[in-house]
Amino acid sequence: MSDAIDFDSLRIAARSAMTRSYAPYSAFAVGAAAVTSNGDVITGGNVENVSYGLGVCAEVSMVCSGFSQGLLSAAVAAGEPAIIAVSVCDADGAVLTPCGRCRQVLREFGGDGLLVDSAQGPRTLGALLPDAFGPDHLAAVRTEDAR
Ligand SMILES: [Zn+2]
Repeated sequence: MSDAIDFDSLRIAARSAMTRSYAPYSAFAVGAAAVTSNGDVITGGNVENVSYGLGVCAEVSMVCSGFSQGLLSAAVAAGEPAIIAVSVCDADGAVLTPCGRCRQVLREFGGDGLLVDSAQGPRTLGALLPDAFGPDHLAAVRTEDAR
């Protein structure tokens, strides 16, 4: 699968998105780009806030942008992984791996098989977030409640 993903292009898109980030407080600009299951590319940059805790990472910004453009909703409605590969970079274009929170956000829309760019090459999200909490855990609770 990773052979079919053009990570060089994704890194370029992530770096371009980084230039549109808003990081006046940390001065740590980050960009993210992902390929959707439909072949679309979605991007985002981190967006900070003077109330620090309200800032969002580039990956979260990217997912929100994808939904607002309607590029993710169809795949989600069909129950498919909406994102199949993602690359994140800093201001120098160096590849970053997503923070823990973003790994959980990305799992929601890409599942364990999502390919995440890293300095060592693409890795699956399942390798970066093993034994992750996911929709199956809630489905088990809902099934028990129905009894
Ligand atoms: Zn993050």
